[in-house]
Order: sequence, then C-alpha cells, then structure tokens
Amino acid sequence: MARTKETTTDTKRCRRCGRRKRLNKFTINPACTADGHEWECIRCRNKRIRAWQKANPRKFHRYIMKLRKKYRHAVIPAEKTCQKCQRLLSQFDFYRTKYSSDGLDQYCKTCRANKNKKWRDPKQNPNYLDHLKKQRNKILMMQFNLTPDDKLTILTFQHNVCAICKQPMKHPNCDHDHKTGQIRGYLCPMCNRALGRFRDSLDRLQAAVAYMTNFPATSALGAPRFGLPGRTGTKAQRKLAKKLAKQQKSLDTPPEL
Ligand SMILES: [Zn+2]
Ligand SMILES: [Zn+2]
Ligand SMILES: [Zn+2]
Repeated sequence: MARTKETTTDTKRCRRCGRRKRLNKFTINPACTADGHEWECIRCRNKRIRAWQKANPRKFHRYIMKLRKKYRHAVIPAEKTCQKCQRLLSQFDFYRTKYSSDGLDQYCKTCRANKNKKWRDPKQNPNYLDHLKKQRNKILMMQFNLTPDDKLTILTFQHNVCAICKQPMKHPNCDHDHKTGQIRGYLCPMCNRALGRFRDSLDRLQAAVAYMTNFPATSALGAPRFGLPGRTGTKAQRKLAKKLAKQQKSLDTPPEL
C-alpha cells in the first residue's frame, strides 16, 4: 500500500507509550481502527511481540510453522512496492521468504541490505556486540558444553598459543574428538584442519612421523634425489625452472675465444 501525502503529516497518539507520532510510525491495519492504523506505534508493537516470542518460544514456533503451511502455495507477483523506499520493483529485487502471503520480503534487496548493515554497525546499534557475544556463548555451550570461563581457563593453561604449533591464535578453534565428543584443547585453524586431514588418527600421525624421518624414495633409489624446491605448479617455481635451464645452456656451450 503506497503512503499518501497526508498520512506522513497526520499524527496520532500511541496508546501504549503515550507519545504523539506520525501516522507512518503505526502499522497499517484497515480492520483495526477508523484511521486504518494500529492503536500502538510500531516500536511498542515490536517490543510487545518480541517479549511474547521470548516468553512463549514453543507457541511462536508453532505459529511460524502455521505461517509456512499457510503460504506454501503463495503466488509470487511480478512486481511489488517496497515498504521502505516505496519503489515499485520487479519480484527479483526482493528476497524470497516463506512467511509472507506473496512469498516475497517486505523490503527490497537494497533496503534489506541497508537495514542489516545498520543493525550490524555497533555505532548505530550498541546492543549488537552484546548480542554477538551472547550468541557465541550460546553456541559454545551447545556445541562444546563449555562456559566462557571454561574456555578462558583452557586458553590460559595453553599460554594463549596453539597446542601444536605454539603460535599465538587469532581465531582459536576448539578441537574435539568427533567420535566421543571429548574436548581436547584449542588449536589454530591450520593445525585443527591438519588433524582433520589425518582423520584424527594416532596411527596415521605416527606413520607420518616415521615417513618424515625415513623417506621411502631415498631407501628405494639408494641415494637422496633432489627436484625443484618450492611448491609444484606455482609461478615462482616455473620462473626458477627457466632460470636453471638458462644456466645449464650457458654451461653446455663453451665460451667463444
Ligand atoms: Zn508507542
Ligand atoms: Zn526499498
Ligand atoms: Zn597451530
């Protein structure tokens, strides 16, 4: 529904917070009051709904599932007006959602991106960092059964370095036994991935140590053999190969007298 000019200048008193606000700060609901808007402002309404969601998580989940079922066969319109910038845009300028009657987001992609950016900016949303911390702690508890204090204790015990390479960690990874779920310690992402590539197997790791101390190629050929140093297939290695070939050529042709 496009906003007319008079609605942006008209004001209305919110019956919850008592403040007088512009009509566009109230949710449009033709069935609600005579002026076609909700009796409480969007802010109060959102606050009330959030509180209800938090108090009744199961009911909220059931409601969401009902919405999904209800809008399962939603017919997506070719064009839609963005609720924020009021532009009439094609359906491809909106993200799909399963929770609306037309299967599209209420804001266009640009407005949605702006809104998300605003929400993620700690200057504009002071609660964001707090929220992030809470979310991380929740995941830590759920996945690894660790409190933030437990994590700190382990990291202090490891002197804040990776347990394998002893390097300071920017993003410490909690390493755990995939079979039993037992927490082993904190590793840097590289060491954690390296363990994963060895399938967390002690036998494979010991075989790797044996391999690195006694090379099968040397034993087979009877003497050490050397190829080009560096990673294979890289630009630096190709350059080195060219240089060596040139050197070889100059050695092969005797200097003219
Ligand atoms: Zn209000
Ligand atoms: Zn928009
Ligand atoms: Zn490491």
